[in-house]
Amino acid sequence: MSCRRTPRTNKCAPFAARSNPWDIGLIPCQLIRVSKPYKLVSRDFKEENTVITFPGTDAAIGGPGLAIIAGPCAVESREQAFAAADRVSCAGAQFFRGGAYKPRTSPYSFQGLGEEGLQIMAEVRDKFGMRIVTEAIDNESLELVEQYADVVQIGARNMQNFSLLKRAGRCKKPVMVKRGMSATLEEFLMAAEYVMSEGNYNVILCERGVRTFADHTRNTLDLSVVPAVQRLSHLPIVVDPSHGTGKRNKVTPLSRAAIAVGADGLMVEVHPEPDKALSDGMQSLYPDQFDELMAQVRQIAPVVRRTVVAIGARESAAVVSS
Ligand code: PEP
Ligand code: MN
Repeated sequence: MSCRRTPRTNKCAPFAARSNPWDIGLIPCQLIRVSKPYKLVSRDFKEENTVITFPGTDAAIGGPGLAIIAGPCAVESREQAFAAADRVSCAGAQFFRGGAYKPRTSPYSFQGLGEEGLQIMAEVRDKFGMRIVTEAIDNESLELVEQYADVVQIGARNMQNFSLLKRAGRCKKPVMVKRGMSATLEEFLMAAEYVMSEGNYNVILCERGVRTFADHTRNTLDLSVVPAVQRLSHLPIVVDPSHGTGKRNKVTPLSRAAIAVGADGLMVEVHPEPDKALSDGMQSLYPDQFDELMAQVRQIAPVVRRTVVAIGARESAAVVSS
C-alpha cells in the first residue's frame, strides 16, 4: 500500500486506513482519509507557512515582515492614485490597493475606471515601486486584471463564485480571497481550496468582517478567525479593518488588534481627500491618519515578532522618478 506521509509527523496516520481489511498488500491503492473537506489549504497537506514572494522585490506576504496593503477604495484618477501612493509608500506600505472594477450595491454608483484604472495602477507600480492589488469581479475582468496586477483580489461578494475562483486558480498571479459576508471558516477555506485545486498555490486569505446584528459598524470584524485559520491552514491571512468596520475612527484601533492577534498584514483604505471619494469615503483614512496607524503598528509588531518596512524605505529603493 502507498500512503501519504505528512510533513508534520512523517507518519502514515491519519491518512492510511491500516486496519482496513482491503489493506493487505494485494490491491495497490492510495487511501487518504478526508476528515476535512479541504485538503490543499490544510496544514495536514503542508505544515510550514506559505510565504508569497514577488520576484525582483523584497515584498512578501506571510513572512516575518507584515504585508501592508494601502490605497483608495477605487482608482478615480491618476492624480488621486499618485497622491495616495506617494503617502502610503512613504509610510511603509509595499502594496498599493485600488479597484478598477468595483462591485457596487447600486448599479448607479461609480463602477470603476475599468482598464484605464488598471493602467494607472501599473503606473503606480513603476513610479512608486509598489506591488499592485486590484479586484477582478468576473471572468471577463480577470482576463485584464491578471495582465496588470501583482495580486488578484476576489471580493467578498464573489467568495462563492466558483467559476471565478476556478478561473483565478488558472491565473499566474497570487490571488487574495476576501471572506464572504456570511461565510463560515470552512466556507472561507473552501474558497481558497477552489483556487488551489486549479494549480494556483499562491493564495492569501483576507478577513473583512461579517454581517451581524451589530449596527454600530458596517460589519463585525472577526479577528478570532485569524488564529482559527492559522491553526488549520498554512496560507497567509491579512485583515481589512476598513470594510470590517466601515468607520474611519475604528480603522486604527482594529489594525492594532489585527496585528496583535497575529495577522500577516493589513489592507487599509487611504484616500488623499476622503470627503470627495467616489466610494467608501467614510471608512477611508486621511494620509496623516495612516502615518499614525503605521507608527502604532510599528510598536506592536515586535511584540508578535514581526517587522515592518522602515519609513522612507521607498526612497532608498531608488525606484522613484520625479
Ligand atoms: C474592496 O476591497 O474594495 C472591496 C470591495 O471589499 P469587499 O469585497 O471586502 O467588500
Ligand atoms: Mn471599499
